[in-house]
Amino acid sequence: MITLKTPAQISKMHENGRLLASCLHEVCTHVAPGMNTEYLDHMAEDLIRQEGAVPAFKGYNGFPATICASINAEVVHGIPSKKRVLKEGDILSIDIGLVKDDFYSDMATTVPVGQINAQAQHLLKVTKDSLCQGLEQVRIGSRLSDISHTIGAFVEKEGLYVVTEYVGHGIGRELHEDPQIPNYGPPGRGPRLRSGMVFAIEPMVKVDPEPTRVLDDGWTVVTASGGLAAHFEHTVALTDTGLEILTLGGEEKRSG
Ligand code: MG
Repeated sequence: MITLKTPAQISKMHENGRLLASCLHEVCTHVAPGMNTEYLDHMAEDLIRQEGAVPAFKGYNGFPATICASINAEVVHGIPSKKRVLKEGDILSIDIGLVKDDFYSDMATTVPVGQINAQAQHLLKVTKDSLCQGLEQVRIGSRLSDISHTIGAFVEKEGLYVVTEYVGHGIGRELHEDPQIPNYGPPGRGPRLRSGMVFAIEPMVKVDPEPTRVLDDGWTVVTASGGLAAHFEHTVALTDTGLEILTLGGEEKRSG
């Protein structure tokens, strides 16, 4: 069942989203060759707790950290570690979530470490653009699978492949609520979108069609081929006036 949020609840979730975006932006400014992912994780936890919020992933089904830090062929759910030191040319996906005043916020981005090659640049651009395309479908009267279809069709047209094993989701008082939002499939299916729906939309894209697998740590999802993967995510609301991206604002806050 999809839980609709009131305008007051969406406004609360927007506050939380701005906070999360600001934390992620700050963490991203420290991504550089020689940095380890545990350092970034501790920084993220400190920033979230300083705001009176709680990391959403730490302890979730036993996940041990505040951020998921997934490097290169790691798609999602990478565990931060002092031993994972970033190198020039890597790409790093950071997934981060928080909960404050009973409401969750969830977002992800993939950033270059120094100079990256043309394939990695293309992957990052297409994944980010696919999220933007999907968000354009978040409007009154669309059907849920219009989001999925738009993302999948765009990625395919760009010669890349969506990860099918993991999906976006509703979000609110729970980190993962109904509905599930795949990043592929036919348009025109599923419920009609209504004011009050809040979703975490999160395309995960890879450079080849091989499936993913989970490493022995029980968490880290990697491409079976070793090819690169990227992940972008926003928490968004549909209101009477249209799409509201709740997890924006990191850069604005930093420069202002
Ligand atoms: Mg998510």
